[in-house]
Amino acid sequence: MTNNSEIDTLNDICREAKAENRLSGKNLTVLYELFGQRFSKALNALKENRVKKYVFEPSGRKVWIVIGRERDYLIMPAAEFCMCDDFYFRVLDKKIHLCYHLIAQKIARNLAWYETIEESDKLYESLMNEWKKATA
Ligand SMILES: [Zn+2]
Repeated sequence: MTNNSEIDTLNDICREAKAENRLSGKNLTVLYELFGQRFSKALNALKENRVKKYVFEPSGRKVWIVIGRERDYLIMPAAEFCMCDDFYFRVLDKKIHLCYHLIAQKIARNLAWYETIEESDKLYESLMNEWKKATA
């Protein structure tokens, strides 16, 4: 299944990148070939430091966000879920498996290529509502 190989390949490359603490030229090529435009967009998000990990205190709850052009995207990495339209219309339709936000988040997490933002638990509900309602 092509859908599974997408995610398997990305996971393999992320493991390698983590071990070497960088994305090798070979792996960059593989990612471009596999994801095309989606990888270009993911790489831009990484370069522009648009992947954020919110850590809520004192609970320690973590939320991943990719800052987009128009809005922020809530990512649920464990579920490989994202709240963007790309994910909603195409991933659920099984046309693609991973939107560029999920690709960016996976690479960010493995290469520690993200910003950590600490917030109080008091803000958790209102921030989550903000991130969730953006999906029209
Ligand atoms: Zn997405």
